[in-house]
Amino acid sequence: MASLFGHGILAYTITKVVDKRELKILILLAIVSSILPDADVLAFRFGIPYEHMLGHRGFTHSIAFAILWSVAISFIFSKTKRFIFFSVLFLATVSHGILDAMTSGGKGVGFLIPFNDERYFFPFRGIKVSPIGIEKFFSEWGAQVLFSEFKYVVVPCILVLSVVFLTKKYRK
Ligand SMILES: [Zn+2]
Repeated sequence: MASLFGHGILAYTITKVVDKRELKILILLAIVSSILPDADVLAFRFGIPYEHMLGHRGFTHSIAFAILWSVAISFIFSKTKRFIFFSVLFLATVSHGILDAMTSGGKGVGFLIPFNDERYFFPFRGIKVSPIGIEKFFSEWGAQVLFSEFKYVVVPCILVLSVVFLTKKYRK
């Protein structure tokens, strides 16, 4: 994973760009969706190996999972804006795997599971991989993760959010 902060701020930015009405519930659901894929670290507890389809960065990081999850959640939480909900939640969920595929460590991301269990990385892998577990996060390693995410996630997100903010301001 990238860190929870990295995933969260990207999800927040996606929501601001796609959903012009700025529904608070949707922002919250998007942030949850961007963090949820890492629930698969529980697989280690059950003895499921990393490279298994249900292992870490496996099914919950796939495009298929993002579609199923977003369809289900948009049906549960919205009656009239399901397409917007689906679009935001799908992008937020998939963005998790995209950031992971740009990290420096671990195994690749199983984007195409269950159809193909290959794991993928992007050519650019400048985001330092985040440690699994809280204790290890508050360390030199954690600081390096935050710094790399600041450069490659936070700064671009702030730029995008500024553009969104300015276009809104001048449209009024
Ligand atoms: Zn992950």
